[in-house]
Amino acid sequence: MLQIENKDRFGKVVAGALAKIELTVKDAGTKKRWINAIAKATAEIEENGVFMTYQEDDHSLIIWSQKSNNIYTANGVCQCRAFEQGSPCFHRVAARLVRLYMEPEMLPKGNTQAEEIPYLKNSSYIKAERVGRVRIN
Ligand SMILES: [Zn+2]
Repeated sequence: MLQIENKDRFGKVVAGALAKIELTVKDAGTKKRWINAIAKATAEIEENGVFMTYQEDDHSLIIWSQKSNNIYTANGVCQCRAFEQGSPCFHRVAARLVRLYMEPEMLPKGNTQAEEIPYLKNSSYIKAERVGRVRIN
């Protein structure tokens, strides 16, 4: 089971992921799908963490889907239908978010200047204050 105890750190992880999509994905439809996947992953982690297990050895996230009753092991790849069709799926996003949360050394240090972190540049135009119930600003 997975429990997010440090909401502040998790919020930073989510904000960083949104900023990265904003800056690196050009196509509006693709951007929207990724942002939806991030929102879904954030909500699932918060609400259904009890059905998830993070594996430190291979950085994968095991997700028991209540909807399909399948078990997905998400890392860079996934076994779900969305991934098969080449769409962003929340399982992979959740795996990435949880990895960044669990391994804070992968996050930029608190006093690092924004210009040193490409994906944090110009992130001010992200207007959302919250994703699901997670504060990101
Ligand atoms: Zn998936």
